[in-house]
Amino acid sequence: MQDLKATAAAVSRSRREFLRDATGVCLASTLLGSRLKAAQRPRIRKAVVVTFGGGARDDETFMPDGRQNIPHLIADLLPRATFFSQVVNRGILGHYVANASLATGAYETINNFIAAPPEHPTVFEYFRKELRRPASDVWVIAPSVGFERIGESRHEGYGPGLGANIVLPKRLLASAVPAGARGGFESLLHDSYETPSYQPDAGASQVELDRLTGMLKVSVSEFLAGARNVESADELSIFIARRVMRQFAPSLLWITLHDIDVAHAGAFSLYVDAIRRTDRLCAEIWKLIQSEPEYAGKTSLFILPDFGRDSDETPGGNGFQHHRTGDARSRTTWMLAVGPDIRENVLIDRPIDSMDLVPTLGSYFGFSPRFAQGKPVSELF
Ligand SMILES: [Zn+2]
Repeated sequence: MQDLKATAAAVSRSRREFLRDATGVCLASTLLGSRLKAAQRPRIRKAVVVTFGGGARDDETFMPDGRQNIPHLIADLLPRATFFSQVVNRGILGHYVANASLATGAYETINNFIAAPPEHPTVFEYFRKELRRPASDVWVIAPSVGFERIGESRHEGYGPGLGANIVLPKRLLASAVPAGARGGFESLLHDSYETPSYQPDAGASQVELDRLTGMLKVSVSEFLAGARNVESADELSIFIARRVMRQFAPSLLWITLHDIDVAHAGAFSLYVDAIRRTDRLCAEIWKLIQSEPEYAGKTSLFILPDFGRDSDETPGGNGFQHHRTGDARSRTTWMLAVGPDIRENVLIDRPIDSMDLVPTLGSYFGFSPRFAQGKPVSELF
């Protein structure tokens, strides 16, 4: 644990100095007078949460050598954002279980490789139950492996009927591509970088998939025409997100990006390419928020990796390739938050916990995530 603390502090110090140098960002303590007054805040609030790929290290993002990989976060978003330089994930470092934990605000212990519902109520259930919102107001766009159950827990008092709409874009695309033509989409339709043998239980949900496909008017040719990289599932996710935002304008939209997890294949260049693409897609989401009347001026965007990846120095680790050791690099990441309610150009250097996200969303929207383990981040608003 001492190693974790020491490394996290070193990463934070280095990043803070770098950020101040690069962008002129200020420490929170110097800006206590800049909070927005309550009367200035928009009454209708929306939020988009984006998890920045499947495991992204500081080394390739906000650390000095990583800056070149995230030009949009650095230049477009950071000057308008509150940036948390130490976000610590103390849970299981598997993508589904970690994202489910982010969504419940409590460290889940469900099997990462089974599509099991979270044990604690999700942010989607708190939001809908307390604020009496319809199902159409909460959507999740996620990679296929395991995530079909992330939107709804089995917690007593919550659960069935209170969750989010889940869109698994790869499955939507698969259902839209004729069986004989799927050979051209092998890379795109590949479900997981960790469990290539994973077979989802798709049969029971085919009717729902068909309904969503029709509703979202998924058109393969349209996606292919607009995407810069047709090998990217994350491009597809943003394509779907755009459709969801225009057709349903949900107040709470959760997008799990996953291309970065291609790092498991062992090619550093593919990992970095995916980070650069994720950086660009995050900027596109922010632009989309600004250009859509249902979102402009009332939407906050929260961007954070689900966790990091192994350090190059940790014995038993494989560096960027995996997230197996649970070392400080794999547990310490960052969060960037931007929006009309959020203070601009602020760096929060104290460690926060990954589980603080849901309580913070609770403060933002006005619901009480009573079973969450984290705390609202008070410096944000
Ligand atoms: Zn992974």
